[in-house]
Amino acid sequence: MTDFADSPAVRRPADWNLERLERLADEHDTPLYVIDLDRVKENYARFAAAFPDADVMYAAKAHTGKAVLEAVLEVGGTIECAAWGELQRAIDAGAEPNTLQYTAVNPPDHDLDYAVDLAADAPGLTITIGATDTLDRLAERGYDGRIAIRINPGIGTGHHEKVATGADAKFGIPYEQVPEVADRVREEFDLVGLHAHAGSGVLTDGLEEHCRAISRVGEMARRVGDEHLEFVDVGGGYGVPYREEEQPLDLEKTSEMVRDAVGELDAQLKLEPGRYVVADAEVILTEVNTIKEAPDTTVVGVDASLSTMIRPAMFGSYHPMLNVSAPERGPIEATVGGPVCTSADVFAHDRPIAEPERGDVIAIGNAGSYGYELANQFHSQPKPAEVALEDGEVRVARRRETLEDVTRLER
Ligand SMILES: *Cc1c(COP(=O)(O)O)cnc(C)c1O
Repeated sequence: MTDFADSPAVRRPADWNLERLERLADEHDTPLYVIDLDRVKENYARFAAAFPDADVMYAAKAHTGKAVLEAVLEVGGTIECAAWGELQRAIDAGAEPNTLQYTAVNPPDHDLDYAVDLAADAPGLTITIGATDTLDRLAERGYDGRIAIRINPGIGTGHHEKVATGADAKFGIPYEQVPEVADRVREEFDLVGLHAHAGSGVLTDGLEEHCRAISRVGEMARRVGDEHLEFVDVGGGYGVPYREEEQPLDLEKTSEMVRDAVGELDAQLKLEPGRYVVADAEVILTEVNTIKEAPDTTVVGVDASLSTMIRPAMFGSYHPMLNVSAPERGPIEATVGGPVCTSADVFAHDRPIAEPERGDVIAIGNAGSYGYELANQFHSQPKPAEVALEDGEVRVARRRETLEDVTRLER
């Protein structure tokens, strides 16, 4: 655990063993996800070490692969889930149901049925609600167990408007309604905590705003009586550097600022990093199949697409790229895109990269969070395989899909 916590705070594509990556691409074909489970453990342990007396839950939706959940559990992590399927997968990976937290956002009936069933045998399960409708629906199901209230702090933060949940009316109880809702929860259920998750991808620059949202949660906890709460959960959102010039979060400073923002509390502090734990632990390997000289740029066609990883198309995300086959070649400015027929299917415009040739393998870095998780079959593309590295060993964590997997449900 100690060595894990002492690991470097940032891992860039060039820090991977490039020869090994090229071999993996050769053996397992491309596009290929490669997840380093030792790095997952390091990231979790480093984060947890910065918040020694807090409860650090891994937010499963960033990467719900069994191998990742098992790695987090192995280093003592607990798991936050946002859907019934995530609860089931956490349990399948070995999580003790009493330690799980289920964050319900407009929960479908099936999700509530599942959570209430689970809680009947695991009264330690916590359900986080963001609307009083959810309370009504839980009461209808006979539930009177542990509830946390998700607060809408009215302040959103993060790398993109689509992840700035803290100011979005969809998430959480409107701030001024929280005391009244807390009274109701205390009457009908067991109020154990307050929760807020303000955004995602926060780096040093966004930390102040992020902490403003957190301070609203601390303030509300004191208003509703923190001495009667078990925990105050300030969510996730902690970013990693995607661009070469970006610096990693200073966790010590982050921890200090978060604590200051929360203020004096009797309740335990809880955090839910997702991205931070997995982002730099995974790369995508993709093979170059086309080089085309266009008047303004060199187009480099690869076999990964927005079906493999949708973040650049969906959020305009920057992902570092490295020519694994020939990192020493002189750089050219390239537009790197996949086989999908939309101009959104481009990983980078005018990006300097060691001059690619057909057959080269390119690594797309920081693919661990919301990468495989958002992979899809658009353009009838089977989802890629994922191999896992752990303790010097390689294993297939998920086999590559076949075309039969794509058409399996058709009748
Ligand atoms: C998505 C999510 C997280 C994790 O967010 P990251 O930006 O990946 O750290 C934490 N808590 C909740 C409730 C979430 O929905």
